[in-house]
Amino acid sequence: MSQKASRVSTDIDYEKDGKQSGFLRVPHSRNESAWGTLMVPITVVKNGSGPTVLFTGANHGDEYEGPVAEMKLARQLTADQVSGRIIIMHALNLPALRAGTRLSPIDSKNMNRIFPGDRNGTITEVIAHYVHSELLPLSDAVVDLHSGGKSMTLMPCAVIHQLPDPAQMTKTLAALEAFGAPLGLVLEELDAEGMLDTAAEETGKVFVSSELGGGGTISVETQAIADIGVRNLLKHFGVIEGEPVSRSSLGLAPTRLMQVPDGRHFVAARASGIYEPFVEIGDEVTDSQAIGQIHFFEEPERPPMVLEAGRGGTVIARWIPGHVTSGDCVAVTAVGYTPS
Ligand code: CA
Repeated sequence: MSQKASRVSTDIDYEKDGKQSGFLRVPHSRNESAWGTLMVPITVVKNGSGPTVLFTGANHGDEYEGPVAEMKLARQLTADQVSGRIIIMHALNLPALRAGTRLSPIDSKNMNRIFPGDRNGTITEVIAHYVHSELLPLSDAVVDLHSGGKSMTLMPCAVIHQLPDPAQMTKTLAALEAFGAPLGLVLEELDAEGMLDTAAEETGKVFVSSELGGGGTISVETQAIADIGVRNLLKHFGVIEGEPVSRSSLGLAPTRLMQVPDGRHFVAARASGIYEPFVEIGDEVTDSQAIGQIHFFEEPERPPMVLEAGRGGTVIARWIPGHVTSGDCVAVTAVGYTPS
């Protein structure tokens, strides 16, 4: 018997004009459900020829602005508004979103560290494999919306990476600006292997991500940024009509382009205890400036461990919980973007 390309099945016809809402059916046989299936929602809106934009959300299950913006888009869009194709998977890691956790509670896998996935792997790997083998080849642009999750908060930003191909970088940078977030970030990842980002970039797609806040919640500001951003990108790519809503037309400062050029901009805890921050998101810090300290609550006479910024800049991310464990990333700084 010949093997199917993916173990995931769907009734969606990606080549059909019109709007389709359905599911990716991922086999999920388990103790509670012998012939069970994980039903991952998917919406496809297609009209004629034009670019294909793939939207994903809940890659991490405790990040909510993306899924909400994408569900609104899926409900509101009609086929006649579209020139091209929009594929929306607002609950990419559905088990994680159900649980409100970063990782899948089924296999403890981090969706954004397992691309290109594995058709014969665990459930998170099977979903990733479907996206990589079936949806990425259809797509011209991929928009994967993240927020900080329960442990981090970030200055709301759209995110791209420095790319080796100048033409791809120029197109990606233009999309970053079109999103219209307060901050447009060119990020050097600490661990880029296995990310959807890397998989999309390596196949030549325009890839835009975001970090829209965090703390495992939604704010009025961050949701508005996501809602406007997804439509701005569709206008920018020419898939829906109109010009992107500029920040100036909303009385807001223009998008600030910044970069995190290397690992020295990430500050890690080197002990476990209670974390007391000295700086907030948006504060400016210098090289080696003290940015927080760790208190040893079982040794009250022991002086706290002071943590210093590696490279100075604007604090764009910080740790949220009161408790910190050695190795946790407690702060990230960024500097102005200089094209390389
Ligand atoms: Ca994330």
